[in-house]
Amino acid sequence: MANSANGADANVRVRFCPSPTGNPHVGLVRTALFNWAFARHNGGTMVFRIEDTDAARDSEESYEQLLDSMRWLGLTWDEGPEVGGPHAPYRQSQRMDLYKEVAAKLIEGGYAYPCYCTTEELDARREAARAAGKPSGYDGHCRDLSAEQKQAYEAEGRVHIVRFRMPDEATTFTDLVRGEITVQAENVTDYGIVRANGAPLYTLVNPVDDAAMEITHVLRGEDLLSSTPRQIALYKALIELGFAKTIPAFGHLPYVMGEGNKKLSKRDPQASLNLYRERGFLPEGLLNYLSLLGWSFSADQDVFSVQDLIEKFDIADVNANPARFDLKKAEAINADHIRMLDVKAFTAACEPWLKAPHANWAPEDFDQAKWEAIAPHAQTRVQVLSDITANVDFLFRQEPVEDEGSWTKAMKGDPVALLTTARAGLDTADWSDQESLKNAVLAAGEEHGLKLGKAQAPVRVAVTGRTVGLPLFESLEILGKDKSLARIDAALAKLAA
Ligand code: GLU
Ligand code: ZN
Repeated sequence: MANSANGADANVRVRFCPSPTGNPHVGLVRTALFNWAFARHNGGTMVFRIEDTDAARDSEESYEQLLDSMRWLGLTWDEGPEVGGPHAPYRQSQRMDLYKEVAAKLIEGGYAYPCYCTTEELDARREAARAAGKPSGYDGHCRDLSAEQKQAYEAEGRVHIVRFRMPDEATTFTDLVRGEITVQAENVTDYGIVRANGAPLYTLVNPVDDAAMEITHVLRGEDLLSSTPRQIALYKALIELGFAKTIPAFGHLPYVMGEGNKKLSKRDPQASLNLYRERGFLPEGLLNYLSLLGWSFSADQDVFSVQDLIEKFDIADVNANPARFDLKKAEAINADHIRMLDVKAFTAACEPWLKAPHANWAPEDFDQAKWEAIAPHAQTRVQVLSDITANVDFLFRQEPVEDEGSWTKAMKGDPVALLTTARAGLDTADWSDQESLKNAVLAAGEEHGLKLGKAQAPVRVAVTGRTVGLPLFESLEILGKDKSLARIDAALAKLAA
């Protein structure tokens, strides 16, 4: 092993191997991220493999989405689709010959055998075992069929699956996250590796490819922990047959819990990666947050760069306890990353939202100069980039922004008197000087016995439509005198009606 001074191991080869079914979800991204961070920390290799052996569930659209998501997140791969590599192809649907060959050798060597049991027979025996209080896994019925028995089944027209023969001994391995784990033989029975129609199953193709691709560390979700003893047994067979060199190390990442402390399901809307993209999470903000699902940077710092993550990440520091997905915290961390952007980058990052066709203003009314003037003020306020439109729409709309909640809240007491005085003061103020604008509103407030905050509220709602938002005097200056006064006039007209 090429160990360098800091303990990094450039021989590390990890894989991210999703099935292209449905939209990418945050649990999947967390798995990709931990593999990637571990590879990058070690200067090792990140393999991206597509497990598309289930034609009924896999889709090309989902495959494209996976690649697009990885690219958007910046989770680069060294071997895989579109990149190639020494173990190509990296799509299992294109590796069927290998699986056929391995399955045949496993049968030939006695590591696997044809099982002719029908689903009905299996169900009936399972029920009977349960009723008798016995283990209810596969009972080994076809383990040692004679050639005659097999022939008889074939003559009946039965089809068979291929089953892997589990050794009659306990499996012990050291999980990188959970420590030593022992599973008793009776808890892991012989399992199917090839369907009756000849299609190889995950149970076979996943370890076969991990072996072929010389994966050193398998980092994946806790839901796959129960398949590890089976895979270790299969690995031993692969080594004896010359298809594998060593058994990789395994590390199972903790569950991610969602609302109500239930396991976050991939069907949960909150789990969809696209949701975070559409709402305007920065990739670095989302990665920062997701890295905290089972890992921590330090006791007193939870905002850090991707570079910091790479430097510090170690699988040995991952915590086995379930992690809770906390949307508020994710947003707060994303907000911190927005603040850290250079203002030009922030301005550019918002533009897809500002230039998207949407109902809030006519696209031709978008004004680049006004946007660039207001952007630095907006950068300190938005949590996700999609927040931007509600912060700046007053600049681009012909009509005033109408928000009934804000209106009722701000137009209390005698707003007509206040707005009339403020308008008169603003009309003679110096619009190139925010102090002058502020003094006009301050003076209007004084005249009506209101502190600045209270005096500001009706002016803000008249001009921007909302009680909360960007600082008022900057907003007035950037919107300009004519439009600002026209908005106050419109509010006065509405109050008079
Ligand atoms: N294709 C499998 C899945 O997405 C991979 C599991 C594994 O990492 O072993 O669940
Ligand atoms: Zn059987």
